[in-house]
Amino acid sequence: MKQALKNPVVVFILVVLPGILIGVFSYWKIRTNLTQDAFSRRSAIAYLSSTLLEERLERVHDLGISLATRVTFRDLIKQGDWHGARDIVRDIPQHFSFIDHLNIVSVDGLIKEDVPTMQGAIGTDVSDEDWFQKVTREKSSYLSNVKTRELPDSRSNIATFGFPIFDRDNPDSVIAVLGLEIRLNTIFKWSEYVDVGNTGFVYFIDRRGVLIANKDYSVDNETIDYSSVPTVERILAGNTGVEILYNPIEKEERLVAYQPVQKYGWGVIAQQKVEDAFAERDRTLHIILLVFGVVILISVTTALLIINANKHLADQANELQKKGKQIQIKNEELEHKNKELEQFAYVTSHDLQEPLRSLSNYTELLSSEYADKLDETGQKSIRFISEATTRMRNLIQALLEYSRLGHKKEITTIDCNKLIEEVQFDLSQKINILNARVIADKLPKLNGHETELRLLFQNLISNALKFHRVDVIPQIKVAAKEENGLWKFSFSDNGIGIAENHQKKIFNIFQRLHTRKEYEGTGIGLAHCQKIIDLHGGKIWVESQVNNGSTFHFTIPK
Ligand code: ADP
Repeated sequence: MKQALKNPVVVFILVVLPGILIGVFSYWKIRTNLTQDAFSRRSAIAYLSSTLLEERLERVHDLGISLATRVTFRDLIKQGDWHGARDIVRDIPQHFSFIDHLNIVSVDGLIKEDVPTMQGAIGTDVSDEDWFQKVTREKSSYLSNVKTRELPDSRSNIATFGFPIFDRDNPDSVIAVLGLEIRLNTIFKWSEYVDVGNTGFVYFIDRRGVLIANKDYSVDNETIDYSSVPTVERILAGNTGVEILYNPIEKEERLVAYQPVQKYGWGVIAQQKVEDAFAERDRTLHIILLVFGVVILISVTTALLIINANKHLADQANELQKKGKQIQIKNEELEHKNKELEQFAYVTSHDLQEPLRSLSNYTELLSSEYADKLDETGQKSIRFISEATTRMRNLIQALLEYSRLGHKKEITTIDCNKLIEEVQFDLSQKINILNARVIADKLPKLNGHETELRLLFQNLISNALKFHRVDVIPQIKVAAKEENGLWKFSFSDNGIGIAENHQKKIFNIFQRLHTRKEYEGTGIGLAHCQKIIDLHGGKIWVESQVNNGSTFHFTIPK
């Protein structure tokens, strides 16, 4: 995962893509809902308008029925007193403003009387008209289709609501027809009671698909056929619905809801320009787009920050790697130098032995051949030279060994119990003289350089014997235990101890805390030990108190 996060593409997919996907999905969902809202709003307007139209037509219907069933009105008509009948209804257009004109028509289709009187109306034959035919044939009220009323002095678009006037004595027989004419402008005004929104409007169509009212057109003296308009086609098929349609007459896309007025066969269409119908939705969507834009911007910035941080980390890692390489090179150089130094120490100590041997031979010759020729001072001097030569030989020998340490890289399995026994045996003379005791616990078997480890054990035990306290029998305890995947050894003695400030430096080469007179030695033993432990990849240190013994600890990896 951590590795994957370093890939800019993965970062982009994890940080930016979810934001984009959620954004697109939410946008799509909100857009669908808001679109649905606009559709529902338009449907509600169409429904409300159709209810309103129906309710208004119902009022005309109720008025017509109440007039056509009036007793005196019917009696007067039956008696042929058309004028008397007219008197009864003469105030109707005045009282009911939605009635524009009223005709009383005989059963043979001739207008007998009209209110208000229009020139040339009386005597007009209306027997061809749909409403007259329907009313007389079906003997029930009927709302006509739209037509232009042609009169010598006026033209206007009207719809006629026809009502049968029945004979009181013979209720099955129609004796006349009452025609209530409504001007289309009046009907159009009804639609104004509904709030249709900006650029929205409602229009009505009759059962043939002819326009009844439309605010954009004067429908006062000509009829417009809307039957080719798709929504009109749908209404005429009895459907209700809402959709976005191209209006071939207005030549633009509109959100259109349509609703039939079932009872009268007419229809209502509520429409609005698409851009206005969805203006609210588009405003909301713009805000949402803006918010999503900000979210995406934040995601992209976050992704870029992560990618940048990764790059920075990668640069740092590269830098570290470079540094590591440099350290490795330095280490190799150092190792090389160490080897050279060891080589030098080896060569020097080896070559020094030769003149030393000559010196020692000649000193011996001097003391054996010329001893009697030398006075006491001369003989003392020869003794000093001889002792110094021996010390020097020992020192050179030790140096030689030190430089040779670890040269044989052979690693074997060593039984430390056996090793300690052998070392004890080698040191038995010293041990016996001092009456010392070496107590070794059970020690492990481990892999290492045998010669070197023997030298290590030997140095530690011989130091413990050497630095014993006067009048105290030396006691040396050797133990080992497992700790954190290492063998931890301890060599404890009850000797003179080491002051705390010396406990580190004693591991340096030629570091001694005593004069040769006090304790014999070269100061190279613990340096040997340090080198051997380094060779095995472990650590060596001492814990001690002056006059209270010392414990040398070292670790060796298992
Ligand atoms: P050397 O024994 O030849 O003097 P080492 O390197 O073995 O050299 O030891 C360095 C010094 O550390 C010794 O001179 C001695 O002062 C101190 N030392 C080492 N081992 C012990 C010990 N077991 N007890 C007290 N002092 C010790």
